[in-house]
Amino acid sequence: MKTLTMDKIVNLCKQYGFVFPGSEIYDGFANTWDFGPVGVELKNNIKKAWWKRFVEEDMNTYGVDAAILMNPKVWEASGHVSSFSDPKMDCKKCKQRFRADNLIEEHSKGEVVAEAMSNEEMEKYVNDNHITCPNCGGFDWTPIKQFKLMFETSRGTVEGEKDAVYLRPETCQGEYVNFLNVQRTMRAKLPFAIAQIGKSFRNEITPGNFLFRTIEFEQMELQKFCHEKDSMNFYNDYKKRALDFVKDLGLSADKLRYHDHDKLAHYAKAACDIQYKFPIGWEELNGIHHRGTWDLSRHAEFSGKKLEYQDPETNEKYIPNVIEYSIGADRLTLAILCEAYEEEKLENDTREVMHFHPALAPYKVAVLPLVKKYHKQKAEELFKLFAKNFMTTYDETGSIGKRYRRQDVIGTPYCITVDDETLNNNTVTIRNRDDMSQITLPVTEAIEFVKDKIEF
Ligand code: ATP
Repeated sequence: MKTLTMDKIVNLCKQYGFVFPGSEIYDGFANTWDFGPVGVELKNNIKKAWWKRFVEEDMNTYGVDAAILMNPKVWEASGHVSSFSDPKMDCKKCKQRFRADNLIEEHSKGEVVAEAMSNEEMEKYVNDNHITCPNCGGFDWTPIKQFKLMFETSRGTVEGEKDAVYLRPETCQGEYVNFLNVQRTMRAKLPFAIAQIGKSFRNEITPGNFLFRTIEFEQMELQKFCHEKDSMNFYNDYKKRALDFVKDLGLSADKLRYHDHDKLAHYAKAACDIQYKFPIGWEELNGIHHRGTWDLSRHAEFSGKKLEYQDPETNEKYIPNVIEYSIGADRLTLAILCEAYEEEKLENDTREVMHFHPALAPYKVAVLPLVKKYHKQKAEELFKLFAKNFMTTYDETGSIGKRYRRQDVIGTPYCITVDDETLNNNTVTIRNRDDMSQITLPVTEAIEFVKDKIEF
């Protein structure tokens, strides 16, 4: 099989209604993408699978949906106002902007950890090693400057006076500020977790690589609050659960690996990414971080509220440790798209097929009248029946073979053909996307058959 390129996936996504460039009729808007009718179903199913696994099936995890705009003090406490920025430099020749740390790490093939370097040290490294512009090959750089990654807006309370407000660059602060609310209202005992799925915004200037890096993206993440003595166990537990989850969604084991961090933030006790082998190489898919008591301590300091827990049995009072598990819904959607794609050689033909896990497939079933003139009415009836049970689509245009191909490429696991047998016996032919085999079942059994297969 040919190597899959990012361009191939981008074009397929545009062509079949998965993802379109943001504001396309205005020539787009860098690093923004709009999910189309097929893509929105895929991404929603991924979010549903995550929520089911980590919230619904976990007795000690509570969901929230916190506001995107938060009191600006939150971002002072978290350290984002003072230090959430990237070192950028511009090529004076072609005017492209690059992250200096990325260029250095690429040039040194990962040998040099630029994160730990000052701007001056990075400038020296770029000059000493004669790192040229990846776009035009020039060697004429501006000095390195820190660029703020938070989008800033303002809220005018009194005419003429405005306060800076930020679009959240991460969802987790919504959980930290609600720690006491959730603990009290749910009568939660430690250890417990707070989870949410929501939008985050980062003023990323570097090239996006499609859904991999965008300026607006969704995070699915949770914070586990626990006693220090249990914290390493939970850290290791989430490392395992995070890996199991993406494997169960269909990502193959040989394209997944742990990447433990050597360099840690001063408050962190451990950190690990799970990397996936995207068409652009091994890159972070999600992060698991042991954050110690840093977040709750900082919010206690800045808000003046005691963010403590009192153990009901031992009466010990303490600030809980936090284990964070965070994965981007868009980045995971990209991984699922890449993994599912196959250009399959058939006897006289090739077909493009998306082998999504049936639980993730945008449509579970396509109802196809064999001959429009004779079978349309019954097929429409069946569409209504199936659509009450799961996401169903209907297609009456073109030859049956072409209609199968279209469903293959959007990953519909079952095509239900309505023919004379359906009119006479109320049976349908079910075609399997992956091996193209067909079986015939009574309509009522067909519904149960599909329901059984789409469980996650
Ligand atoms: P990276 O090193 O790739 O910038 P990060 O370490 O800054 O990521 P976190 O802040 O830990 O990422 O965010 C958790 C997860 O959110 C990431 O693992 C990724 O899946 C997702 N994510 C982060 N930034 C983006 C982005 N700009 N676009 C899409 N997804 C993102």
